[in-house]
Amino acid sequence: MLYLGDTATSDLANQKEQAHPRGCSAVLPPATSCPLVTRLGMAHTRLDSVYRRFLAGHYTQHAFDAKRDYKDISGSVYTTTPCYYCGVPATAVDHTLPLIVYRELLAIGEPPDKRRLIVVPSCHECNSLLGDNFFPSLASRKKYVKRRLRSRYRFILRIPKWQEYEIRALGRNLQDYVRQGHDERERLHQRLAW
Ligand SMILES: [Zn+2]
Repeated sequence: MLYLGDTATSDLANQKEQAHPRGCSAVLPPATSCPLVTRLGMAHTRLDSVYRRFLAGHYTQHAFDAKRDYKDISGSVYTTTPCYYCGVPATAVDHTLPLIVYRELLAIGEPPDKRRLIVVPSCHECNSLLGDNFFPSLASRKKYVKRRLRSRYRFILRIPKWQEYEIRALGRNLQDYVRQGHDERERLHQRLAW
């Protein structure tokens, strides 16, 4: 098998088209149908143009790590580092350039500047929703998370809004049930608006 890192001839571009990074099937499909090659192709074309603004100072690690007051569902307020994507307290970190892409770039001898490995605080849910997907900007990562949250909790978003006098007309258990639904929907709206 021909690896990108092993090529040394002058016709490198032509070889790159035919070659496959490590980990791809030994029976080589056309390069364009290999997900890894497609992803790396995107990484190569966009790393320099998109991630450059991280280096330009618009985003600094310090800005992401800033703490804010957070009001939980019981009304208690405490200071915490919010998830960059949805605002709930962060319990994980998200690599904006997925490590799998970084490793593959290393493997083909084109490591990006390590300062491009921006890490942002996130909750576990947003972090797992993003997975190893590569996005060209933080904004597109956030947009993707919001779309996935809207889809995952679509039933909560459909909970109808009750008036207070309507709730009071219900039995005690049903009142609690409706108020709990309201709280969940409100919390979700806050995350989507973050
Ligand atoms: Zn989150």
